[in-house]
Amino acid sequence: MSKYIQAIRGMHDILPERIAVWQHVEQTAREVLAGYGYSEIRTPLVEVTELFKRSIGEVTDIVEKEMYSFADRHGDSLSLRPEGTAGCVRAAIEHGLLTQPQRLWYQGPMFRYERPQRGRYRQFHQIGVESFGLTGPDIDIEIILLTARLWRRLGLDGLRLEINTLGDSAERQVYRERLLDYLASRADRLDPDSRRRLTTNPLRILDSKHPETQRLLTDAPSLIDVLGEETRAHFERLCAGLDAAGIAYRINPRLVRGLDYYNRTVFEWITADLGTQGTVCAGGRYDGLVEQLGGRPTPAVGFALGLERLVEILEQSGFAAERRLDAYLVAVGERAEAAAPALAERLRDALPRLRLQSNCGGGSFKSQFKKADKSGARFALILGDEELERGVIGVKDLRGTSEQRELSYADVASFLAETL
Ligand code: ATP
Ligand code: MG
Repeated sequence: MSKYIQAIRGMHDILPERIAVWQHVEQTAREVLAGYGYSEIRTPLVEVTELFKRSIGEVTDIVEKEMYSFADRHGDSLSLRPEGTAGCVRAAIEHGLLTQPQRLWYQGPMFRYERPQRGRYRQFHQIGVESFGLTGPDIDIEIILLTARLWRRLGLDGLRLEINTLGDSAERQVYRERLLDYLASRADRLDPDSRRRLTTNPLRILDSKHPETQRLLTDAPSLIDVLGEETRAHFERLCAGLDAAGIAYRINPRLVRGLDYYNRTVFEWITADLGTQGTVCAGGRYDGLVEQLGGRPTPAVGFALGLERLVEILEQSGFAAERRLDAYLVAVGERAEAAAPALAERLRDALPRLRLQSNCGGGSFKSQFKKADKSGARFALILGDEELERGVIGVKDLRGTSEQRELSYADVASFLAETL
C-alpha cells in the first residue's frame, strides 16, 4: 500500500458530523444580512499580489510574512487572498458599482501563513461586509447593530464589543510623532518586530501581542487626545447611537487593527471562551482605500468575522443539530428492491422538501432496519415483496412508541406531509 497524503498543515476538512453548525451559522448570517439589505458578492480566491500590498500595507504582518504568493506560469506574482476587502473593492471599482452607495457581503476561505494553533489556521473562513459611499456614523452604527443581531440570533451572549477611533491621516501623523517620542527612548524594551516598526510603521506597534511591549504601551500617549473636532464628533455620535440601541461597549484606545487601511471607527467583538484567539469579528472604516486602489474617493466601512472561531463557541455552548433525515426506505426482497427507486422518486415528487434516504446494497430486514435507526431518520418506510403486491408501505416511527402502520402510497405522502 502506498503512503497516504495528508492535508496541508493548518488547512482542515470540515467533516459531515460538524457541517450542521457551519450551515446554521452561514444560513443565519445570510438571513440577518438580507434583513439589512446587503447583497452577496463573490470574487476570485486569487488576485495579483500588488492588490494586497497596496491595500493591506507593505509593513503589516499579513503582507510581510503571511501571504501565499507565487509566480504563475507567465511569471506574474499572484497571491491567495488573505482577506476579502481588497478583492471586494477591486471588483466594485472594476465594475463601476461605486456610482451609488453599496451594501455588499461575501463569504469564503482566506489564506494566511500563520503558526497553526487553536482558532488560528492557514485556511480559514470569513463572512464579511463592506458598505461603500456612506460617510457615517449612521452606517457604522448599522453594521455594528447587524453583528449584534447576528449574535442574538445565534444565541451567543458572551461577546464583548470594543471600539476605538483612529482619527484621520493628518491626526494620525501628529499622533505618530508623539508615539515615536515616547517609544524612541524606550526602544530597548520593545520586541524585535516592534523595534523595526519604529522606523517603518510605529502605529502597528500598538497592535503587538508581545507582553512586555504591551506593558510599555500602557503609559503611551493616546490617539484620542489628538483628535480634531470632526473626528471626535463622529466618534461621539457612534457612541451615542450604540447607547441608544442598548449595545454595551468598551472604548479601547489601543485597538488599532492589523491592517493599514483603517481610519476613524474601528471595532472588535471578543470572547473569553477561545483562549488567546478571542477576536471573533473585527472591522472599521477605510475611507482612503478605494482611492488608494485607483477608484474615486469613496467612504467605506466593513467588518469580517472568523467562522471557525464562531463555530467553535457555538459548539462549546452545546449547539444541537437538527434532524438530518425524515425517512429511510427499507426494501427487502428482489422485487421490492427493484421497485424501491421509482417509489422513492414518487415520494420526492409529491414532497419536494422530503429528506428521504433509500437503502442501497440490499441486506436482511434486520440489518436494514438497524441502518434506518442509525441514520437518525424519524420514520422507517418498509417495503417487502408482500407489501409491494398489496400496494402499501409499512411506516414505523423510529423516535416514538406508536405501532407500525400500513398506508397506501398516496396516503404515505399525505401522512408525511402532515407529520413532518
Ligand atoms: P488576529 O488578531 O486574531 O490575528 P486579525 O486582526 O489578523 O486577527 P482580521 O484580519 O481582522 O484578523 O480578520 C477578521 C477575523 O478573521 C478575525 O477576528 C478572526 O476571527 C478571523 N481570523 C483572522 N485570521 C485567522 C486565522 N489565521 N485563522 C482563523 N481565523 C482567523
Ligand atoms: Mg492576524
